[in-house]
Amino acid sequence: MTRGYNPSPEHPTYNKWWRCQDCGKRTFESRKGAKRVNRMTGGNMNVYPACNGQDGFHLGHLPGVIKHGQKTRSDLYGAA
Ligand SMILES: [Zn+2]
Repeated sequence: MTRGYNPSPEHPTYNKWWRCQDCGKRTFESRKGAKRVNRMTGGNMNVYPACNGQDGFHLGHLPGVIKHGQKTRSDLYGAA
């Protein structure tokens, strides 16, 4: 990030998304865009294809240690 402009993860100007009609999750136009938003929001999410063969990719919380609060982000990634 060198442009000095940091759009909100909810309304990124570079990344198009919409709500999944099946599950209501955010659906990103590209896997790349989803990963980018994932990084901006903490990097704790998984990117996976949208439901029922729809176009796009979902961002979902990882199962396991992070979700259950047994480890924190700093445990896994070092000090913020
Ligand atoms: Zn869905």
